[in-house]
Amino acid sequence: MTDQRHALVTGGAGFLGSHLCEHLLELGYRVTCMDNLSTGNQKNIAHLQANPNFAFVEHDVTTPWNIPADLIFHLACPASPIHYQLNPVDTLRTAILGTENALRAARDHDARVLIASTSEVYGDPLLHPQPESYWGNVNPVGPRACYDEGKRAAEALTVAYTAQYGVDSRIARIFNTYGPRMQPGDGRVVSNFVDQALRGDPITIYGDGSQTRSFCYVSDLIDGLIKLMNTPRDPGPVNLGNPREHTIRELADLICSLTASPSTITHAPLPEDDPQQRQPDISKARTLINWEPRVSIEEGLQKTIAAAR
Ligand code: NAD
Ligand code: UDP
Repeated sequence: MTDQRHALVTGGAGFLGSHLCEHLLELGYRVTCMDNLSTGNQKNIAHLQANPNFAFVEHDVTTPWNIPADLIFHLACPASPIHYQLNPVDTLRTAILGTENALRAARDHDARVLIASTSEVYGDPLLHPQPESYWGNVNPVGPRACYDEGKRAAEALTVAYTAQYGVDSRIARIFNTYGPRMQPGDGRVVSNFVDQALRGDPITIYGDGSQTRSFCYVSDLIDGLIKLMNTPRDPGPVNLGNPREHTIRELADLICSLTASPSTITHAPLPEDDPQQRQPDISKARTLINWEPRVSIEEGLQKTIAAAR
């Protein structure tokens, strides 16, 4: 018999999931990574496979599973706009059925479950910065609806399972996160700009670049997820992100400067319903789980660029 704690990470072969698996192993957990490899990749977890505390299960979360665990980190879901818009029905099914299966698994095995939600629940926010108490401004029938409304339904299901079945749950509202192992070609702004800058290709700013995002380095985010999971009482949804806000134009200039790239800037149309501004209010995370990001954007981008080279 061992008292080693077992963590199940759905979406564990993806960008965030693979960093989370790695960190949980370092903390002494036994880790099962569940993934259907739709947007994730075995390469992200290749360095973990020899670890006797690590197991990989290829499984689609829209089908129930029966794996006992103490903790379930539920991250499985396509996350970049081009991925989640490719098959919007699958995205909704993954967000809703996948989350229900994670909640059922938590109920059946008496596990604590953390749901990876998103700043997209705030849509194109009319309140700035966004506190957890803000209900959001989401277009329910636009091209981002499959993801935004899927995640809103996932949050509602989580609250319902907690109220009805007493499931011990946590909800993390994750803001834009970047770092090594972001998939090149997944269309997200940091991976696109780094890739373009390193190739010397034009940097594609959508719209005039005045829209803002706040970028969190992956190690900070993983630290926040683990702190939130380990907090003894359910604090309700908690924003996890870096409050330092940048225009997309500033991000392009910073990446060009850090890569010493000869790339020029080119403009492409702004996608429909692209949020104009986004910045987390992290007062709740600071107070309740004693968390705030530590890695500056310059340091985080340097690490991301070094990995991409
Ligand atoms: P990712 O695409 O790299 O990882 C998602 C993983 O889930 C992939 O490995 C994919 O293969 C797997 N997956 C997708 N559908 C599945 C299914 N039906 N069954 C099993 N596995 C499935 O994306 P990521 O950036 O690592 O995002 C992880 C989670 O964090 C997602 O839930 C996402 O919504 C959330 N999130 C991420 C960010 C961010 O900036 N990275 C921001 C907000 C929320
Ligand atoms: N963006 C851009 N060029 C790109 C990719 C994205 O200007 O090559 C913009 C995009 O329009 C958005 C911001 O960068 O305003 C962040 O996009 P991303 O897809 O990374 O995340 P999200 O929109 O989901 O926050």
